[in-house]
Amino acid sequence: MLRYFYLLLAFLQFHQALSAQYLNKPSPVDKPENFAAVVTFLSSGYMEGREAGSRGASLGSDFIALMMQINGIDPFGDRKSWFQDFKLIRFRNEKPEPGESEYNDSDYFLEGDTTITNASQLIDTLPVRNVIGIIPGNDTSKSIVIGAHYDHLGMRNGLIFYGADDNASGVAGMLSLAKKWVSSGEKPQYNLIFCAWTAEEKGQLGSSYFVRNMGTKTGKVLICFNMDMISRSAPEDTTGRQISIGTLPFSEDLRLMAKEINLRFERPFEFDLWDVTGHTGSDYRFFSEAGIPVMTFFSGYNSDYHTTADTSDKIDLRKMSDILILVDEIIRKVLRNSYGN
Ligand SMILES: [Zn+2]
Repeated sequence: MLRYFYLLLAFLQFHQALSAQYLNKPSPVDKPENFAAVVTFLSSGYMEGREAGSRGASLGSDFIALMMQINGIDPFGDRKSWFQDFKLIRFRNEKPEPGESEYNDSDYFLEGDTTITNASQLIDTLPVRNVIGIIPGNDTSKSIVIGAHYDHLGMRNGLIFYGADDNASGVAGMLSLAKKWVSSGEKPQYNLIFCAWTAEEKGQLGSSYFVRNMGTKTGKVLICFNMDMISRSAPEDTTGRQISIGTLPFSEDLRLMAKEINLRFERPFEFDLWDVTGHTGSDYRFFSEAGIPVMTFFSGYNSDYHTTADTSDKIDLRKMSDILILVDEIIRKVLRNSYGN
């Protein structure tokens, strides 16, 4: 009889150890086939490379709004829609060189920008839109922004720049994070504002417009999470586990959260933690310049970056899934810790 008692005891200990091991393992934010489908559709030929202001970008923005609607995310754009509409002005090259575009990415500005100097060139206006949804919090006076740009380079010389990693991956990730909140039925402590930015490739103009015009509508923005390219690895990254995370110098708490969560992965990431101060590379820019804490995620420059070969068949679903777990868990930690109070 004593034999059975010891056997049972041994089994219980074994069981407990195993449970702890499994319970502590983070569970995926969404099924990989779901975000893979979103990346694939956004970077398909239908979307024609999603250049800001183009037919393809318009189709992309409609699709993102539809996904927000299907997933039960409330509209946070203009006139109770998911869209925030505004205009860019662009200066046209009067005499483009053969093969050169009539427009250069650096010649786009927000309408009404007073810092413009090259006003002598021919001017054109271009309607564009951000796509924005909200999950209201218990305390609606504070918000967390979770964003990713959906625009890309469009078509050049008849070739489509698909932009799967850059940045259909970030948009798909943002939508999956939002979907998890809604499907869990959990109400976040603060508003979660989910944004798909336009015109990042033309100088982060979509997120710039949002920051300039958010006024009091968002309440206090505690932090902006940004995902720009989260599904590939740099050629020199032999393990495929490197990620780059940018924050402001004072955000040691955020870096610690990332390190803690990282220990729970079967294969932890190799972090490249860097300071975004003075950097203008993605949509964290205008938030950090406004003194708002940011956390920007990037999986590395792959060899197809800004070429027509950035296609959805190459995305690393395992890596992307783990990055989403990391972002999701950090957001939850930030909410629990009454961050920014
Ligand atoms: Zn990008």
